[in-house]
Amino acid sequence: MSVASKITELKNTIPNGVTLVAVSKTHPAENIREAYLAGQRVFGESRPQEMAAKHKELPGDIEWHMIGHLQRNKVRMIAPFVSMIHSVDSARLLETIDAEAARADRVIDILLEVHIGVEQSKSGWQPEELFAYLSGIEPRDFLNVRFCGVMGIASNTTDQARIRAEFTSLKVVYDFLRNRFFGQGFDTLSMGMTSDYKAAIECGSTMVRIGSLIFGER
Ligand SMILES: *Cc1c(COP(=O)(O)O)cnc(C)c1O
Repeated sequence: MSVASKITELKNTIPNGVTLVAVSKTHPAENIREAYLAGQRVFGESRPQEMAAKHKELPGDIEWHMIGHLQRNKVRMIAPFVSMIHSVDSARLLETIDAEAARADRVIDILLEVHIGVEQSKSGWQPEELFAYLSGIEPRDFLNVRFCGVMGIASNTTDQARIRAEFTSLKVVYDFLRNRFFGQGFDTLSMGMTSDYKAAIECGSTMVRIGSLIFGER
C-alpha cells in the first residue's frame, strides 16, 4: 500500500479531535512529499539536523514536530521554525527553549514528556518530580513557550493490559496538570504509536505519532 493510501486510511479511522503526526524520521523527503500531497501537514522528526534539512527542502506550510530526545545545544537549529516540541524532559531544556524561541522572536508550543513505562531507559519526568517543579515556577514567566500538554511512550510490550494502564496513568497526570496548573489551553495528550495508537485513543489520546504504519519499517 502506498504512503498516500495509508494517510487516507488513517484519516478515515482516527476520530475527529485526534491529530495525526506522521513520523517521518529516517525517511527521505520524497516520501514526505507523497504524504503531503495526500493532505498530511504535520510531521514528526527525532533529529534536529535531519528536521532542519527537510524543512529547507519541503513546503513551508508543513508543521514540524520534534518528538525525540533533544539536546540543549541543538535547540537553536530548530527554534526558528519548529511547530511543537513533544520531548521536554527537564527544566534546563525548557529554559533553553524559552531563550532560543525569544532569540527567534517566536512562541513555541511544548509538551512535557512524562515517564510512564517501567523501562529504565525511557526518558521523561517522573510525575512527582514534575509536580514539584511546576509548584515552584510560574508558567507565565516563560514568555516564549506555550504549555500545551503532555507526551508519553508506553512500554514496548505485547501486554495490552499494561499498555492501557500506562496510558491511563498518563491521562491522570494530564488531567491533574490541566486542572492544577494550566487550564484550558493545555489540551494536548500525545500518546500512541504504530503498535498501540488504537488503545491510546481509547484511553483519551488527542495526538498520535505514527511512523512505520505509514512509511514502512525504518
Ligand atoms: C519513532 C517514534 C514514533 C513512531 O514510531 P512507530 O512505531 O514507527 O509508529 C513515535 N513516537 C516517538 C517518540 C518516536 O521516537
